Amino acid sequence: MGKVQPRVRMAKRDPEDRVRDFNEVAVGLTDEEAAYEASRCLMCPKQPCIAACPVGALVPLFMRAVKDKDLGKAYDIVREKNRIPAISGRVCPQETLCEEACTLAKVGSPVAIGAVERYIADYALKSGLGKEIRPGEEGRKRVAVVGSGPAGLTVAAEMAAKGHEVKVFEALHKPGGVVVYGIPEFRLPKKIVEQEVDALRRQGVEFEHGVIIGRTMKVKDLFDDGYDSVFVGTGAGSPKFMGLPGEDSNYIYSSNEFLTRINLLKAYAFPTYGTPVKVGRKVVVIGAGNTAMDSARTALRMGAEEVCVVYRRTRAEMPARGEEVLNAEEEGVQFLMLSSPLRFLGDERGGVRGVELQGMELGEPDESGRRRPKPVAGSESLKAAETVVIAIGNKVNPLIQMTTPGLETAGEEGLIKVNEAYESSIKGLYAAGDVVLGEATVIQAMGTGQKAAISMQHRMTA
Ligand code: FAD
Repeated sequence: MGKVQPRVRMAKRDPEDRVRDFNEVAVGLTDEEAAYEASRCLMCPKQPCIAACPVGALVPLFMRAVKDKDLGKAYDIVREKNRIPAISGRVCPQETLCEEACTLAKVGSPVAIGAVERYIADYALKSGLGKEIRPGEEGRKRVAVVGSGPAGLTVAAEMAAKGHEVKVFEALHKPGGVVVYGIPEFRLPKKIVEQEVDALRRQGVEFEHGVIIGRTMKVKDLFDDGYDSVFVGTGAGSPKFMGLPGEDSNYIYSSNEFLTRINLLKAYAFPTYGTPVKVGRKVVVIGAGNTAMDSARTALRMGAEEVCVVYRRTRAEMPARGEEVLNAEEEGVQFLMLSSPLRFLGDERGGVRGVELQGMELGEPDESGRRRPKPVAGSESLKAAETVVIAIGNKVNPLIQMTTPGLETAGEEGLIKVNEAYESSIKGLYAAGDVVLGEATVIQAMGTGQKAAISMQHRMTA
């Protein structure tokens, strides 16, 4: 192999400028940059990138089409395996999947696969591309999809493409799941999600909002209404708390509530929207995943003067994408490593005024393979905070599991138990995404949704 050409770095807005608004940070590739990146693809016969992708994206094929400047063909190839590429192209952790597997990663830097996927998808959205797939008539079945996150959207698109009648039942007033209510506008604009959802609507998928399955109606009601298959993709949207003294003080938010109020309920436009969220001058965010980075960067955009991420391990163990940690740093987020909260301190008006922290050190690896943090005696300290965001993860909402007799669950968290075909203990009831995997990623939700759709199709047409 000759000398490896350097990889293009996608341009980003200047930190000082971008931190003042919620507009998208990463600006996308130019035509020249995309063609250059595509030309770096070696088109390896073994295609390790495809094997590493949870949806099996046909990377070398779409790279060739981009290189040939046939973007319509590139989009068709992308859509064969991925129904919402403008979303995954922005938030998928490609650096640990297809790009890590890329042959060029071993000798230089991998092809910027995610950036090229986003480029193709954005081009298609801008130019109104997309195959119009009319629902077929013969052998048409009815499919109910519960939840409109990446798992639900994937199943809906796959089943509509097969010609079935598909209806999505969503608890919230907008479709998209976490990619709308959790991931902020500056990483994934709502308009992009809306455009991807519109493409599904054009395929004939119907959406009904404000329907909580398990409360408004039960899973059994869906089967009684004549749905042949039901898919549950209700995600993991129930916040975890720390159970520490003072945690019920005002202005201590779960990351879920904090981000939902700002992203979906437009708290930043109070009083035009009646969903206020108080962001004080000093904000502490507990946790170090993507949710913590999103919360910290959102707090800065809401006007906080100082935002500090507190994490009990070190930077090397942070679960957030490296790119998002870098973005947060560039924007001025501070990081306090090897520290864990002991209790939250309240003020006389019931609000939070600070966090008592315990210094930590790393011991032997735990079951996750990461070194276990241990308290260091005598290392307690106080950190002032007027707002605290707890971003230590989410668990599944148990509503459907509790209201569906015969539905088996797995583990303490109550994940829906499925077989290798993603079918649950109830015949015709499928599940995938976070509600099966526990907190995972957009592309894993899509990949498992894709597999559930294949099984569903197989059963309904057998
Ligand atoms: P969800 O996206 O959670 O969607 C579930 C949907 O079901 C929701 O719309 C919900 O309202 C609806 N629902 C729930 N219960 C019911 C019910 N009873 N009836 C009707 N509807 C119901 N992953 C990445 O790959 N990259 C990232 O950068 C990234 N960043 C993240 C940032 C944040 C802040 C968070 C919280 C998560 C992030 N993730 C990221 C994880 C990723 O978003 C999830 O893994 C993914 O969205 C899971 O998809 P899903 O379809 O299983 O569920």
